[in-house]
Amino acid sequence: MLYWIDSEFDERGGGHPIIPISIGIVAEDGRELYLVSSEFDESAVNDFVRENVLPELGDEPRITLAEMKDRVLEFLGGDDDPQFWAYFGAYDWVVFAQLFGTMADMPDFLPWFCNDLATLAGLVGATKDDLPPDPEEGEHNALVDAQWDRDCYAVLMAMAEGDDDDEPPEDESPATGTDGEA
Ligand SMILES: [Mg+2]
Repeated sequence: MLYWIDSEFDERGGGHPIIPISIGIVAEDGRELYLVSSEFDESAVNDFVRENVLPELGDEPRITLAEMKDRVLEFLGGDDDPQFWAYFGAYDWVVFAQLFGTMADMPDFLPWFCNDLATLAGLVGATKDDLPPDPEEGEHNALVDAQWDRDCYAVLMAMAEGDDDDEPPEDESPATGTDGEA
């Protein structure tokens, strides 16, 4: 099944851990998961997080990272072929993966990579104008952003399929010998 994911996190550059704040996941079947960590220090976050992320966190009860991991596993259920998509997802994937510990600790059913919508956008030649508008409310809430990821995926896949349709079989009038070649 397809899953679109987003996370919010605090970070302060190389040599420091990426600190998870929240994770949002939307499943292809319509289910949604939104989790907020109890293990980050609101008073210590960087300016971007303070201004853009904290106001959008919502009232979700905060839970430990261990509880977040359990909730994610429960959400994914017995899916033995999950496929994940995020937008500029490198950091999101680290946040997700580290719920399980080291890379080698990830359960076998999980892939070791996340597909990136930005890559797909490049492949289909999409520009920013082709993508869904930024959410009117709740941008930088991980669930709202994951919902945007789902919508973005739909747009990009339609473009990908449309590209194929746009290639008419080019009626190239196979050389029938009617154009007077000597
Ligand atoms: Mg986000």
